[in-house]
Amino acid sequence: MNTETVQKGFRCGYVAIVGRPNVGKSTMMNALLGEKLAIVSPRPQTTRHRIIGILNRDDCQIIFLDTPGIIVPKYPLQEAMVRTAHKTMGSADLILFMIEAIGITPEDEEIFKSLEDYKAPKFILINKIDLLPKAGLLPLIDALNKRAVFKEIIPVSALKKDGLDLLVKLLLELLPGSPPLFPRDQISDGPERFFVSEMIREQIFYLYGEEIPYSATVRIETFKEREGRPDFIRAAILVERDSQKGILIGKGGQSLKKLGQRSREHIERFLGRPVYLELIVQVSKNWRKDIRIIRDMGYS
Ligand code: GDP
Ligand code: MG
Repeated sequence: MNTETVQKGFRCGYVAIVGRPNVGKSTMMNALLGEKLAIVSPRPQTTRHRIIGILNRDDCQIIFLDTPGIIVPKYPLQEAMVRTAHKTMGSADLILFMIEAIGITPEDEEIFKSLEDYKAPKFILINKIDLLPKAGLLPLIDALNKRAVFKEIIPVSALKKDGLDLLVKLLLELLPGSPPLFPRDQISDGPERFFVSEMIREQIFYLYGEEIPYSATVRIETFKEREGRPDFIRAAILVERDSQKGILIGKGGQSLKKLGQRSREHIERFLGRPVYLELIVQVSKNWRKDIRIIRDMGYS
């Protein structure tokens, strides 16, 4: 996939941006990408369509994961989003926890606690510093200094693009040496594929015994919105062994059919529109070892 030569010392990794709603996560990701790339995402500018943003430079590829704000969920989509936020943290090489310069709220504290579950190094970003005089920040920085969880405390203004160069510089020091994981002209990806693959995976957990769910992963091969007809989705379920493929498909294809039906119901409810879902099962002995597949799936 990435056969092109890259310079020595190239770094690439996943950086999750987390925090409660409205602290400025999306604004920052846009600022980071816009400034460095001057490319506008072809997708509609809504948070739903902007989960990942890829910063491509000669020396690095930083894959930013803009997560839904962490909140107490009230309905299934919110639950899925909060789950996504946590999954994203689990798969990231580095976590950016964003708060506002105005101060730490109780909601921030909740997220702060959950950060301890993740091993990745963490930076705290104090955003919207443009709203405060410089000296106003000192007490907050002092308080944060006492919390040893953070490798760096970085004041920024996503809006004024202030502090972002420093942020990227500090990120690069900690990201793994790795070739690019995405094509270097790619800057984004749609989250719907991710949700859809997760829903199929979830049904695999419900419908199959112990070993199968842990040996299987789902890759969305095709996702086409079609005018006047249901969306067309083709998903491949990767398993490690022929025997597992047999179990997934079941006698006369019954099990796979049931999986398809259940998954489709959940996907339709989630997307709010009809879909045509095609499932295929493939044996891929080493999918667990293929870092690209695993990362694509959002796992670490
Ligand atoms: P998210 O929910 O965390 O993704 O937050 P958004 O990026 O959608 O931003 C929420 C609001 O905060 C928007 O009105 C932004 O314009 C505003 N905002 C974001 N960053 C800054 C900043 O650095 N300074 C100021 N003054 N406003 C900001
Ligand atoms: Mg947002």
